[in-house]
Amino acid sequence: MGSITLKNVRKAFGDVEVIPGVDLEIHEGEFVVFVGPSGCGKSTLLRLIAGLEDVSGGQIMIDGKDVTDAGPAKRGLAMVFQSYALYPHMTVGKNIAFPLKMAKMPEAEQKKRVDHAASILNLTDYLERKPGQLSGGQRQRVAIGRAIVREPEAFLFDEPLSNLDAALRVNMRVEISELHNSLKTTMIYVTHDQVEAMTMADKIVVLRAGLVEQVGSPMELYSRPANRFVGGFIGSPN
Ligand code: ADP
Ligand code: MG
Repeated sequence: MGSITLKNVRKAFGDVEVIPGVDLEIHEGEFVVFVGPSGCGKSTLLRLIAGLEDVSGGQIMIDGKDVTDAGPAKRGLAMVFQSYALYPHMTVGKNIAFPLKMAKMPEAEQKKRVDHAASILNLTDYLERKPGQLSGGQRQRVAIGRAIVREPEAFLFDEPLSNLDAALRVNMRVEISELHNSLKTTMIYVTHDQVEAMTMADKIVVLRAGLVEQVGSPMELYSRPANRFVGGFIGSPN
């Protein structure tokens, strides 16, 4: 579970073709990073996969099923937003449980899932606190917890660490990689940071102006960049 296929996916806003056409195959359990300069269409592509935007053309399949016209709730994916998307007036526990409450899940099952997510994320002692009483890293873990409890087919991260300081970013990078190792769920991670891409990805998708320049492992991109743009962006000597 958690395979995602894009077939000639296109997106235009008015007359502006932001994604002229993307084909992509994401396998079950992969950690895939979309990387590219600001404005190249990373967030748009992620939002198309999440169902938060409608495609202008093409097809999106999840686990072999065409979900092109399905709303976000039908896709079984969980988007992790930056930590500032937490509800400040709710406790950590209520923030994490929020999507389950919306789905009207029985309270006992909600509690079980929240406790499990909290233990994975080292938040067990913080469930009664408010987000404002947490560190930046803890807040980001709460945002991730809110995705974990949904037990999604795949996690979609859009630059989740960009508002954290440098030292914390390194820690969270490791934590997210460890989370992937333990859950083994498909993850798509958007960043403009080459170091994040090179250290976290099984597979990197380099985007430029809404087109895929190259797909490959960090090692493949580093040793055999398809062109100067990829080489320059990845920091390859070739
Ligand atoms: P990235 O995440 O790589 O920085 P985005 O996907 O946010 O890039 O944006 C890609 C392009 O699409 C940008 O030129 C941006 O201005 C444009 N864009 C994004 N969302 C909209 C929108 N809702 N309406 C019009 N243009 C948009
Ligand atoms: Mg973006």
